[in-house]
Amino acid sequence: MIYPRQCPVCNTILGHGSPSICDPCVESLPNGHIEGSHSLIEQILVPLYGITSGIGLYFFRSDNSIQRILHLIKYQNQPNHIKSLVNRSKLQLCEVLKSVDTIVPVPMHKSKIRKRGYNQARLIADEIGMVISKPVFPLLERSKKNSSQTKRNRLDRWQRVKDDFQVSSHVQNPEHILLVDDVFTTGATTAACIEKLRAQWPNLKISVCCLAITD
Ligand SMILES: [Zn+2]
Repeated sequence: MIYPRQCPVCNTILGHGSPSICDPCVESLPNGHIEGSHSLIEQILVPLYGITSGIGLYFFRSDNSIQRILHLIKYQNQPNHIKSLVNRSKLQLCEVLKSVDTIVPVPMHKSKIRKRGYNQARLIADEIGMVISKPVFPLLERSKKNSSQTKRNRLDRWQRVKDDFQVSSHVQNPEHILLVDDVFTTGATTAACIEKLRAQWPNLKISVCCLAITD
C-alpha cells in the first residue's frame, strides 16, 4: 500500500516531487542564528575554544514544529526533511563560511548507524555541502557508544563524552572546518569533537553549524 506524502507540520497532501515540508510551513519555522548574532553555540564555545562562528539554523523548543520534525528525522526514518530545512536556511549567504574548506559531521557509533540506517549529522553535512559548495569529509569517528545522557548533569556529560571520538583520517591539512551536528544542547559532544580536531591540527579554525539550537 502506498500512502500519499504529507507535510509533517500541517498534514497537507504533497504533490509528486515537491519538498517534504510545504512552503507555508517551512516559511513559518523559527529561524535561528545564521551569522553575526550571539548564538548559544558562540556563548559556550567561543570562550572555551575561540571558534570562528556558531550557527544554529532553527530554534528548538519543546513541542514546536522543529522538535517534531527532528523527531521524525531521528526516530521515524524520515531523513528527507533535512533537505527542506537546509535548503530554506539561506546558509549560502553566510560570509564566514566562504573560508571553510572541509565540512565534518559529528560521527555516530557504527552500531547506532546500523540500527537507524543513517547518521543524520552526516546527511545534514551533505546538504550543507551542496548549499555552500564545500566538500564533506568524515574526519572523526565515534569509538564509544554514548550511553543515554538525559539524566546526567552538565559537568558529568562533558566528562563522559570527552574520549568518545577519534580523528580517523590524516590525509589532508584543513584550515577551516565546519563541524555539523543535528541539535546543540549542552555543547558536550561538539566540545569533545573540537578537542580531538585541535589535538591533530592546533591552529585549525573551527566553525559549528547545528540544524537546531535551544534559545
Ligand atoms: Zn505544511
